[in-house]
Amino acid sequence: MEQLCHFIEGRFVASSDWIEVYEPATGMVYANVARGDRTDVDRAVAAAEHAFPQWSQATPAERSAILHRIADALEARLDEFAYAESRDQGKPVSLARALDIPRSLANLRFFAAAALHTWTEAHPLPTALNYTLRQPLGVVGCISPWNLPLYLLTWKIAPALAFGNTVVAKPSELTPLTATMFAQLCAECGLPPGVLNIVHGYGSEAGAAIVEHPRIRAISFTGSTATGAYIARTAGPQFKKLSLELGGKNPTLVFADSDLDSAIPQIVRAGFLNQGEICLCGSRIIVERTIFERFVERFCDHVRSLRVGDPLNAETDIGALVSQAHYHKVLAAIERAVADGGRILTGGNAARLDGRCIYGWFVEPTVIVDLEPNCSANQEEIFGPVVTILPFDSDSDALAIANSIRYGLAASIWTNDLRRAHMIADRLECGVVWVNCWMLRDLRTPFGGTKDSGVGREGGWEAYRFFTEAKNVCIKL
Ligand code: NAD
Repeated sequence: MEQLCHFIEGRFVASSDWIEVYEPATGMVYANVARGDRTDVDRAVAAAEHAFPQWSQATPAERSAILHRIADALEARLDEFAYAESRDQGKPVSLARALDIPRSLANLRFFAAAALHTWTEAHPLPTALNYTLRQPLGVVGCISPWNLPLYLLTWKIAPALAFGNTVVAKPSELTPLTATMFAQLCAECGLPPGVLNIVHGYGSEAGAAIVEHPRIRAISFTGSTATGAYIARTAGPQFKKLSLELGGKNPTLVFADSDLDSAIPQIVRAGFLNQGEICLCGSRIIVERTIFERFVERFCDHVRSLRVGDPLNAETDIGALVSQAHYHKVLAAIERAVADGGRILTGGNAARLDGRCIYGWFVEPTVIVDLEPNCSANQEEIFGPVVTILPFDSDSDALAIANSIRYGLAASIWTNDLRRAHMIADRLECGVVWVNCWMLRDLRTPFGGTKDSGVGREGGWEAYRFFTEAKNVCIKL
């Protein structure tokens, strides 16, 4: 059985204790991952500190070249990484091939290019010149979740490294495989030892040790709101810089004037991509009452055509949920929605597969109506293949439903009325709005949420600002 080790100071380091890693599609253990603790994190921080002077003083061109080399090596092994991501996470291999690994490449290349194009401000006075330096922070901690494992890990470590920091990263204990393979790639591509360190393990052990470590200067975290609150509580008094990308329960607003032929397949995708395990998924669909019945019927027809299956099968649309615990949580959320008066139009059950997937954690794509906006299924993140559909009567009604929630990550608006699109986008309480599209990403744009969806923004110059410290120098002329 494969042993997935820590990667510290350029070497793979075994552990005295291991965590079993399951393949979600089969429900079977297929690897063990190192169970890191404070000692491992201390070692990784020491390695990162040791590597920092040289890495931070390398020219941007040198750092950029190494990141490009890593991206090229990843591209050459795209299929291998896609297979590993699918096996580890449960997502369709076709999705890992089309989204996860290409986006990981894009993250590396985007920030490799950004390293060459940084700038700082100057504020001249007649009597003095102010100029601002942007310096790397030192050792930073990057903690990532299980839903888009390599995609979100590289989204953090690429800017951290590009702008001269050294990193201690912790991938989710549920999906440690591609991070470990990536570490190997970094070593092969000449990333100096200690620049990137990966400590595996449980959040409450290795993760907490990173958050609490006094010599880690910043934490870039993506994961649940509950863990984000712990990190804010713990790292705040140490005055670490924090970027917290947390949960979402995103509204999809469908107006009567939208083009349903083009909208419905995209809204289905927004609800169910990656089994609904994406923080940006549009899981609360709010539809103008005049088209409600027509929309629901066409939407459900489309959902029924989604194929639940072995993630390694190229035809599969919906793979397995990441863990047994998560599978039970999603099924319990469906049961609760029914108890709250919800009516299931399609799905609603575990999906039973044959062959190697007989014990896998599959759930049918599920559509629920007749729920009040304030019930649990409309307020809490389910993070599975489950959407609710609610009617609205006016623009203000739509906005009130969309905003009546503690989360504020993303939203999508479907309308052909430009005036309305601007007005609704302006009044939605969230960090990202798409109009007549969903998850159309440009890595230059600020990405992140409001309210309980987090603080801070990632992407583009936001990442540059986060991973550097401003120092103003004032010279009397
Ligand atoms: P999680 O919070 O349980 O875990 C995320 C990471 O944090 C894992 O690596 C975990 O081991 C670690 N962790 C857990 N407890 C910790 C602690 N006490 N100290 C330090 N680290 C700790 O989240 P998850 O279940 O892995 O991910 C799903 C969640 O992530 C969902 O809520 C989803 O919405 C959110 N998410 C948000 C975004 C975004 O960009 N806003 C993107 C993807 C996922």
